[in-house]
Amino acid sequence: MRPSSPRILSLPVWPSITEKEILRKYNLSRLIKMASNENCYGPSPAVDEALRQIQAHRYPDLHAGRLKEAIARKFGVLLSQILVGNGSSEIIQMIAQTYLASGQQGLTALETFPVYFRAAAVMDATCVRVPLKADAYDLPAMLASVNSSTRIIFVANPNNPTGACADKSELRKFISSVPSNVLVVLDEAYKEYEDEPEDTVAWLSEHPNLLLLRTFSKVHGLAGLRIGYAIASVEIINDLDRVRLPYTVSVPAQVAALAALQDDDHVRRCASMNREQRISLQQEFARRGYEFVPSQANFILLKRDIAEDLLKKGILVAALGLFQMPNAVRITLGTREENAELLKAL
Ligand code: PMP
Repeated sequence: MRPSSPRILSLPVWPSITEKEILRKYNLSRLIKMASNENCYGPSPAVDEALRQIQAHRYPDLHAGRLKEAIARKFGVLLSQILVGNGSSEIIQMIAQTYLASGQQGLTALETFPVYFRAAAVMDATCVRVPLKADAYDLPAMLASVNSSTRIIFVANPNNPTGACADKSELRKFISSVPSNVLVVLDEAYKEYEDEPEDTVAWLSEHPNLLLLRTFSKVHGLAGLRIGYAIASVEIINDLDRVRLPYTVSVPAQVAALAALQDDDHVRRCASMNREQRISLQQEFARRGYEFVPSQANFILLKRDIAEDLLKKGILVAALGLFQMPNAVRITLGTREENAELLKAL
């Protein structure tokens, strides 16, 4: 058997070592997980309460109606402007399935979230990847790369793995300059961690080709339940909804997301503890003379190739080969105690 396209064979397979194997290999009694940008403080207590009441023997609501209603109310958009998916990763895949085909192009940064180029490759489309400039998306260079084959532009803001944000007015100018038949996907997975988040929902009315991507995996602390959402024009959401498989967003995921969305205090508290830890770690990195990227997210990119060294000391961080940055690691911020352990290990 051969895959439908050689592009599929060019995709790297996911690393497959298990936690148990890591513990055995490095003779460790515990592993501090700082590799996947989860929320180390966990979800709102309201989530536990909501999860106690689920009925597992029924299929989930096909349309995630209650959750979409709550999202629509929160952001002042129509329910028909929202799509819910099995993590924002599933929505990225749906976007590629809907808008990319062989001979067409996606466009993104070189050092960014790898699901964008993977999703394009699965559709046998190319994905042009423009190198970052000063650790952030090089928007002018990306604009210069748009051509008649370009169908989608993926922008992660803040970017994973650097944690840097684009300048807000430059980003707005960029979106205005993109041809209106090209979809701009603004992936805001880490938005709640930004110091001064822009009201990008307000941009939607002026830019019908803009799609905002959000997730419950980060500040809401629901990475294990797999749920994210998109906000865009009714037309785009309609297109994506045709591609959507039924029931990919589970009952627990829908129920938990609804509870999480309503607990603004928890989000504020987690973002504020994250900010405190981020400032303190960055100050210590600077004091020690480490090269790092000042972050607007819940992780920090450290420009040292030390993933394996840290693993030997029981700390799991992300090595960045897949992100085209083999000489750096991405460290997800932990609790005060975990970060102290990290500093000790470094
Ligand atoms: N976008 C970005 C930029 C991310 O870093 C991640 C998670 N690492 C996602 C999307 C996907 O998140 P999920 O599928 O868990 O919603």
